[in-house]
Amino acid sequence: MCSCNRDLESDSGLGAHTVIDFHTHVFPDSLATTALASLRKRSGIAPAFDGTVAGLGAAMARAGVATSVIQPVASKASQVRPINDWLAALDDPRIVPFGAMHPDFADPAAELARLADLGFAGIKLHPEYQSFRPDEERLEPLYSAAAKHHLIVFFHAGCDITLPSMHSDPQIFARLLDRFPDLTVVLAHMGGWRQWDEVLHHLVGREVYLDTSFTMPYLSERRFCEIVAAHGAQRILFGSDGPWADVTSEVACLGGLPLAEEARQDILWRNAALLLGSRAQQKGDLSSGGAALRALPN
Ligand SMILES: [Zn+2]
Repeated sequence: MCSCNRDLESDSGLGAHTVIDFHTHVFPDSLATTALASLRKRSGIAPAFDGTVAGLGAAMARAGVATSVIQPVASKASQVRPINDWLAALDDPRIVPFGAMHPDFADPAAELARLADLGFAGIKLHPEYQSFRPDEERLEPLYSAAAKHHLIVFFHAGCDITLPSMHSDPQIFARLLDRFPDLTVVLAHMGGWRQWDEVLHHLVGREVYLDTSFTMPYLSERRFCEIVAAHGAQRILFGSDGPWADVTSEVACLGGLPLAEEARQDILWRNAALLLGSRAQQKGDLSSGGAALRALPN
């Protein structure tokens, strides 16, 4: 799992100065205003753009982001298919959608097979919005199908600023990694929002990717760099959580950290390009122009 194919870098002629944002949210135009107003009220956070695909595109252009990965959250099982149908119809070469999934969805194996056929690179799960523990037995068919189809499983990790619940922690994710060694897992918020002591204890050095989103104001520079050094920069992915943070500021934040330039470029784009590219290669997508390949910047 998580095998990086360094050849992709030279083969694709990737430039050294680009950004892949692995963690963004968008909504259909008809829902964006209402969805953002409701989430803004619950979180107290002013969104950095209007939550539409066009708004995301403009934020990307301002920040020099080549590719954004969409991480949709289905708060009910009935939303999974409609969200995935909407994402599958998005036709923007700068956008790589992950699919929505929900632990209560009746036949996850069939939907994951469909997503894989459609060229999706992964799925998103949110233990707090979806009220589940990531190590529950009932998720076995879902994880097995994700591993079978080489779909990356992206988790919200740690508590959510809008909810009092706590369904995941680094120890739970460590158990999941033990049980599903073939699963490619990304944990948002550097492995667990406000659980960074436990991340250092249970997750660093494991075969798991951590994203940088929503950490900078809460995690000190020293602690952030400590996790990067302990885990390895090659398994850290840049994510903004836009519109809940301004991607331009997040890129600038990363630019200001005392990291080696090679490590910074790994985090900003190279790891994501290799991860999405190697997944496409495993799936045999390289010549068919699957969605994952859109992540490779031109
Ligand atoms: Zn998010």
